Amino acid sequence: LVDLSLDLVEAIAEGRTVLVPGNRTARAVRLRYADHARARGHSGWRTPDVLATGAWLERTFLQIRGRQALPRLLGAAHAAALWDAIVARSEAGLRLINAASAARSAASAWALAQAWGIDLARVAADPGDEAQAFTAWVRAFEADCVRQNWIARPRLARYLAQRGRALGVRLYVPDPAELRPDERGLLATLSERGDDVVFGAPRNRAPLAPAPCVVAARDPTDELMRAADWARAQVAAGATAVGVVVTELHRRLGAVERAFADAFAPGTRLVGSAEHLYGVEIAAARPLDEYPLVRAALDVLALVGGRVASPIAGAILRSPFLAGADSEAAARALADVRLRRDGREHFDAVVLERQALANRCDVLAECLQALVSLPHARTHRAPPSVWGEHFLAVWRTLGWPGPRGLTSDERQTIEKLRESLAIFGSLDEVLPALTFDAARAEFARLAATTSFEPRAVGGVVTIIDPQTVVGIEFDALWLAGMTATDWPPPPDPDPFVPIALQVHAGVPQATAAGMQREARRRFDRLVASADRVVASWYRSDGDAEERPSPWIAEWPRGDESQPRGHGYRQTLLAARPVLERVADAASPAVAGEYARGGARIAELQSLCPFRAQAELRLGAHPMAVVAPGVGPLVRGQLAHRVLDDVWRELRSQARLAARTDAALTDEIRAIVARRAQALLAGASGHHVRLVAIESELAQARVLELLRIERMRSPFAVYDRPERSESVRIGGIVIDLRIDRIDELEDGSLVIVDYKTGSSADTNAWYGDRPRQPQMPLYAVVHRDRVAAVAFALLSSARVGFAGTARSAGLLPGVEASMAESRASAADSWDAVLEGWQHAVERLLSGFAAGGSAVDPLPGACRYCHLRILCRIDERAPEAAMVEDDGG
Ligand code: SF4
Repeated sequence: LVDLSLDLVEAIAEGRTVLVPGNRTARAVRLRYADHARARGHSGWRTPDVLATGAWLERTFLQIRGRQALPRLLGAAHAAALWDAIVARSEAGLRLINAASAARSAASAWALAQAWGIDLARVAADPGDEAQAFTAWVRAFEADCVRQNWIARPRLARYLAQRGRALGVRLYVPDPAELRPDERGLLATLSERGDDVVFGAPRNRAPLAPAPCVVAARDPTDELMRAADWARAQVAAGATAVGVVVTELHRRLGAVERAFADAFAPGTRLVGSAEHLYGVEIAAARPLDEYPLVRAALDVLALVGGRVASPIAGAILRSPFLAGADSEAAARALADVRLRRDGREHFDAVVLERQALANRCDVLAECLQALVSLPHARTHRAPPSVWGEHFLAVWRTLGWPGPRGLTSDERQTIEKLRESLAIFGSLDEVLPALTFDAARAEFARLAATTSFEPRAVGGVVTIIDPQTVVGIEFDALWLAGMTATDWPPPPDPDPFVPIALQVHAGVPQATAAGMQREARRRFDRLVASADRVVASWYRSDGDAEERPSPWIAEWPRGDESQPRGHGYRQTLLAARPVLERVADAASPAVAGEYARGGARIAELQSLCPFRAQAELRLGAHPMAVVAPGVGPLVRGQLAHRVLDDVWRELRSQARLAARTDAALTDEIRAIVARRAQALLAGASGHHVRLVAIESELAQARVLELLRIERMRSPFAVYDRPERSESVRIGGIVIDLRIDRIDELEDGSLVIVDYKTGSSADTNAWYGDRPRQPQMPLYAVVHRDRVAAVAFALLSSARVGFAGTARSAGLLPGVEASMAESRASAADSWDAVLEGWQHAVERLLSGFAAGGSAVDPLPGACRYCHLRILCRIDERAPEAAMVEDDGG
């Protein structure tokens, strides 16, 4: 990937150590040197000594230490654990919500001070809280280092510079501008002392032809598709080193993988067969705990630690990395579905074992049983090395990493995890004896802060971020994400070191001007690092409008034709035979008279006939999601059950009127408490508190509603609350369960439906295709006697009635229905019922006939889970997009 300059080749030939900005650049130089040697007909050559400057510092220190008595090098994990412990036990740390994050920031501020020579005594003189806390932590850290005879990595350059003697090294630094000030200082000092240090200068490549150009994309996805298309074309044209630099690569990693997989290995991401995209290398290390294998290992440790949240229990059930995952895959998937339906928030190993047994996941149940009988002694304290052994035993017990053959990436991931476990085990001298939970949390933190990227065979196309690309050169380069928001980047001063000190030391990220200068230098270097350069930006990202970076705004426009798209879908579509089109918008008619689904039939048939058929006849339901807290469904159930109990007891408004407020309050409190109890199975302490709050709200709202009911004209509950009835309408028989029907003294009926949500739009009852036909359906069923239909609202926004009636005064706040063309309210009421009759009969008869057209009401797709089944996006992608955006 690196086009080697003559100076660099010469330096390598002279046996010099070459210092470059990062490990990836070092690897790129070694690879390109091999190409260079092969091109000159050599069959063997000495591997050039090319190192990232940080790696060279460490190697040099360790070599000297082998000969002399020097401090011990403090590893990165050890240093992080030390910072964590210092911050957590400090006075300032005790007041912090996230002490671990503060510890990371403090470590980075200390490293910054070392690199830029910021005088920590001057930081201590700053009276600000941050500076004072930071100073205390630094003193503790440095004192620990002195006591234990440690030296931390950020101090190495200054330490070696202060030792006062030459090291006997021969160095070549191709790009001195990439050195940190402390590294530059060390090399200058070594040079003065007689070491042989040669500084190169970045090459000026020949003038670019053609000139760089800019491409404007619609959105980030469109931008990546264009970049992938372009990279593929470059490779097809014979380029051997193509770079795609993506700003914010970490955030966009998933989208990058999808776009390049579709362009370079169409179809493979659907079947998961391509471990690496052929010829494409994504140079992005991720935190170790983001790898599924590691996630699974950490999840089972969490289960050993006690209770895990329902999503983690589900992940354990679905994990392919545990014993029996292949033979029990289907049973475990079903167990997961049932677990979601249960709505339980937390699981421990015993409960999960019962779930596994009940769902015929015998292997898993056996493993969980063995896990439960492992000697845990969770309160027992032990050093990290002992807990490391215990973690291994836990993983073995559960058969981790599972029965299937592992890919190369997965083998490397396991290797990295074992390495991390070894590092964890070596923290004995930094950390005190820990409980199991503390050890697990410490190990999880280590995995979260360990960056890892499986080694891959070098690719022709390298996708990389702007920081890591430094020093690498290409035949052709695409710069993605060149928006005005990110280029130039905003200043990012360190929060712990006073800004004035950072400015004085020359830290570029401390000021907008410094940041701009540094970013511009990097940008110019990037643009000069390839023969052909394209920059791109996107016009919008979600709701945010974007503009191009001012640095590319004046560049000539590149090819902005639609990307071809190589995804599986596009490939299949392009290869499709000419098909006969058959419009088939009908399923078989409902057999017999009875249809399951009740009022929901009318509601779904109106929203979208396809959805009604799919959900109610084919059972295409969404997977349940277990969410923390009290969801709308539970809130609704609680209110319904309480009101049901209340009216079963009261039966009439006269008896309600006879109750005193105090008696009513006591009665409701007792009912709410009884009903809420049923919601607490398996609930966490947090959930119990939320249910208690919800119960108080339910009690207050029910009481308020009953006070309003007291003001109504006399009525009695018709039959009983929550009364079920089977009705024939639209040619089918359906079951209805109406919350409550009140019978007035004149024998007319008022239909009441309880609503705890905030959306109670009575306008949605009207029209040829009403969005909410449930209340019209109830009214039509009792058309002869119905005098009013209304929602009884119990939401945070309002408690009361909303609906329509034959005449005013039947329900507080409910007006008589009005139709301008009618002479009286009674005429109008009949007209309303007539319209409802037509609408619900049309909907139900359409359902009975099997009508399943993909014909959604505007906005209906937004909250529908059936997009993949109905393929609305394939039928009218533009329309679907518009609907998505605008609802
Ligand atoms: S996504 Fe839209 S079109 Fe498809 S079934 Fe759902 S509502 Fe109907």
